[in-house]
Amino acid sequence: MSEWTQEKREDIVKRLHDKGVNRPCPRCGSDKFSLVDGFAVFGMVDKLEDEGVRNLIPSVCVACNQCGFLTFHALGPLGLLPKEPPQPQQDQQIVVE
Ligand SMILES: [Zn+2]
Repeated sequence: MSEWTQEKREDIVKRLHDKGVNRPCPRCGSDKFSLVDGFAVFGMVDKLEDEGVRNLIPSVCVACNQCGFLTFHALGPLGLLPKEPPQPQQDQQIVVE
């Protein structure tokens, strides 16, 4: 995995601050955190037996520097989700009667 640039890291940290993410660690009370390079992706299933995932939730990960407690923030509310990829061409005609 290529490391994130300082600019990208600062952008993400700013977005977290703008959302009011500024509380101390809920486990140890430390106020020192580090943004972890890379995205964590959660795969959602309807049932545990499902072999495929229904939805993927990409997120950024913040680690407490003192105890290692991890928190994850989904990209959507931070405005970091890429635009919808173009849909494949389909012959769709919607007839309104
Ligand atoms: Zn902690």
